[in-house]
Amino acid sequence: MLRKYRELTRLEMEQVDKEQTIILIPVGALEQHGNQAPLGTDDIIAEAMVEYLDKALEEAGEPDFPMLVFPLIPVGLSTEHRNFCGSVTLRPDTYYHLLYDICVSLAHHGFKKIAFLICHGGNAPIIQVLSRELRSELGIAPFMLSSGAFSHPDVKATVSEGNIWDFHGGEMETSMVMAVDESLVKLETSEAGIPTAFADNHTLLPYGSVSIGWVSEDWKTAEGKPIGIGGDPSGATAEKGRIILETSAKVLVPGLLEIRDWEG
Ligand SMILES: [Zn+2]
Repeated sequence: MLRKYRELTRLEMEQVDKEQTIILIPVGALEQHGNQAPLGTDDIIAEAMVEYLDKALEEAGEPDFPMLVFPLIPVGLSTEHRNFCGSVTLRPDTYYHLLYDICVSLAHHGFKKIAFLICHGGNAPIIQVLSRELRSELGIAPFMLSSGAFSHPDVKATVSEGNIWDFHGGEMETSMVMAVDESLVKLETSEAGIPTAFADNHTLLPYGSVSIGWVSEDWKTAEGKPIGIGGDPSGATAEKGRIILETSAKVLVPGLLEIRDWEG
């Protein structure tokens, strides 16, 4: 069973093998996820992912996997969602320095391996920059784990037919929250979002060779109302969420084993 960083005493922490032990830092966000899913969707998914990872490691014959789970960082970089009610964002430099200072403390105690469990895509660019700095400045090995195996066939199979734009706040994320607690999702209020702002474009798209710093207002309902989500959450179910969480956790296990064995 994975141990939680905050639950160790000082004496127990002194006994931890700092060379080998991975510090897993789940990074979430507090931001709008459409009409139907809670503001803390990414945080809720992050906490669930840690539990599913724990199970997946045990099933892989690694019940004593050397990893400590750091407290979730519940607020991240959510600039693209700031205009929707309830979204909270740090500034990029604040977020960078928050994570940097945590890692400096961990390195000070001798930890060499820090793995960020990235449960909000908007956090990823800063963490990539930070990771290079940590490696070159502090000589520690920073790793990045993506929380959702969204391209895995078993995960893709959970998405309803025709729901081609599914990502932020869509069917998959909503399903994952439902797998944790169905009462947190108000599915009857859901509306689908598509990137209508780019509908007439072939090259300038939210992602790709020519892209834009998109904001979630670029995703609108068919009637043109900014909805801030990608995809149609109406087909979300708890069972789909369990499949996505379980598959995503299993996909990460081989990577975690390689991180454990990484000697740089
Ligand atoms: Zn999300």
